[in-house]
Amino acid sequence: MDNCDWCSLSEEDRRFQLYETGSWSVFLSDEQDYIGRCILVLKRHCSSLSELTDDEWGELRDLICKIEVCLKTVLGAALCNWSCLMNSFYKDPAPDPHLHIHVRPRYDKPVVLGGNAYTDGEFGHHYALNKSGAIPVEDKEEVFGRLKGWLDRFPFAEE
Ligand SMILES: [Zn+2]
Repeated sequence: MDNCDWCSLSEEDRRFQLYETGSWSVFLSDEQDYIGRCILVLKRHCSSLSELTDDEWGELRDLICKIEVCLKTVLGAALCNWSCLMNSFYKDPAPDPHLHIHVRPRYDKPVVLGGNAYTDGEFGHHYALNKSGAIPVEDKEEVFGRLKGWLDRFPFAEE
């Protein structure tokens, strides 16, 4: 799709790409309201989960397993909140969504990055919608490095 941002990601957009499979890319989100928050983006233009092929579903299942283990192992997440929303595309009178899935790791104890401790004050409840997602760039780099390091060491092929 010519006018789809997700179909034409720049090198800069891919700066925080953590991982990819044949069908999916995984990025560390700009918003780090929950430390380690990521977004899984389907590589082809497709509007809904119901239009995924069997192969794409299979890869997504393996990817969800991989990302959950990574977030629990590397950052100490207690669980992950997965969501496929797409609401913002429907503000357009002619919506043409590009399938993507958010994952917010949830924590029953603080995540410490550098000298900063990040607390999940809503643990046990729905994730907050208006929490600041801004963290210092060095903390974001540390999260990225830790997650990517783990994912690079444990790619699918070694399972
Ligand atoms: Zn697209």
